[in-house]
Amino acid sequence: MPNYMKQQTLKKEYKFEGKGLHTGAYSRICIKPAAPGSGISFISVEKGVEIPALAENVSNTARCTLLSKDGASVSTVEHLMSVFAGLGIDNAIVEVDGPEIPILDGSARYYAEAIVKDGLQVQGAKRRYYEMKESVELRHEPTGSWVLVEPADHFSIHVTSDFNSRVLGVQKAHWDNSVDYVSQIAVCRTFVFFHDVQHLVSMGLVKGGDVDNAIVVVERPVAPEVVAEMAEKIGRPGLTVLPSGYLSNIKLNFLDECGRHKLLDLMGDMMLCGGHIRARISAYKPGHTINTDTAKAVQAILSL
Ligand SMILES: [Zn+2]
Repeated sequence: MPNYMKQQTLKKEYKFEGKGLHTGAYSRICIKPAAPGSGISFISVEKGVEIPALAENVSNTARCTLLSKDGASVSTVEHLMSVFAGLGIDNAIVEVDGPEIPILDGSARYYAEAIVKDGLQVQGAKRRYYEMKESVELRHEPTGSWVLVEPADHFSIHVTSDFNSRVLGVQKAHWDNSVDYVSQIAVCRTFVFFHDVQHLVSMGLVKGGDVDNAIVVVERPVAPEVVAEMAEKIGRPGLTVLPSGYLSNIKLNFLDECGRHKLLDLMGDMMLCGGHIRARISAYKPGHTINTDTAKAVQAILSL
C-alpha cells in the first residue's frame, strides 16, 4: 500500500494522445510530477493558461466535466481525476494540447496502469486530509438523484445506479482502499445507449464515439438493418446485438461494469473539491452535474 500520510506525485512524465469522446478532436497530453502542496492542475498549451482542478472552475457538465478559466478550457477531465483519487496522487500537472482529455478505451485503465507500473514518488510534505465536520447532501428532485458526504475516518464511496433499463437494471458499486483501484474500477468503460448514439451521430456530436471506446447498451428493440447501417457508419460492419442487450463490439469486464464506471466518474468529480477527503460518500443515480455541485459544496465548506 502506498504511504497515505505523505503527499505523492508521479515518478516521471507520461504522454498520451488520442481522440476526445465528445469533441472528436485529437489531443496530446503530458502528465507531469508537481511540487508538494501544488495540487492538480491542467494547463491549456494553446492558451498558456493554468486551470486548477477545482470545482469552482467547472463550467459545463453536459455528458462530461469541463473545466474553464480565463478563456481556456479542458473537457472530460473526470477519468484522469479519478486516477489521481484512486491512486492517492496529490500533486500533478496535466499539459493538454487540444480541447479534451483523450478517451482512449473509455476507461481510466491506460492512465492508471502506466502510473502504477512505475510507482509513485513520496514527497516530504504531509498530506493534508480534508476532514468533514458535518454532512453535505445534495438532491436533484426531478431525477431523484442524491449525493451524501458524511464525516468518516477514511475514504469510502458507495454508488447505486438505477438506469431504469431492462439491460442494466440497478447496479451497486463500492470502493475504499482495500479494493484494488486499477483492476476493479479503472478498467470500467463508459457507456452509451444505442438510441442516444443514433441521435448524436446524426447531429455530428460523437465523432470520436466509435465503438472501441464505449459499451453500447441496446435498450429499445432495434431492427437488424438499423444496427447494420449504424455499424457501417462507424466503420465496424458485422456488429450485432447480443442476447444480453449489449452491442457485440466489446466484452464486458464485469456484469456491473456500467455501475462501476459511474463510481469511477464520481471519484474523479469529487477530487475537484481540492484533495483527498476523509468522508463516506454515498450516491444514488450520480451524474456530472450533481457530482460537481457536491464537490463545489464540499470545497466551499473546506475553504471556510
Ligand atoms: Zn466517465
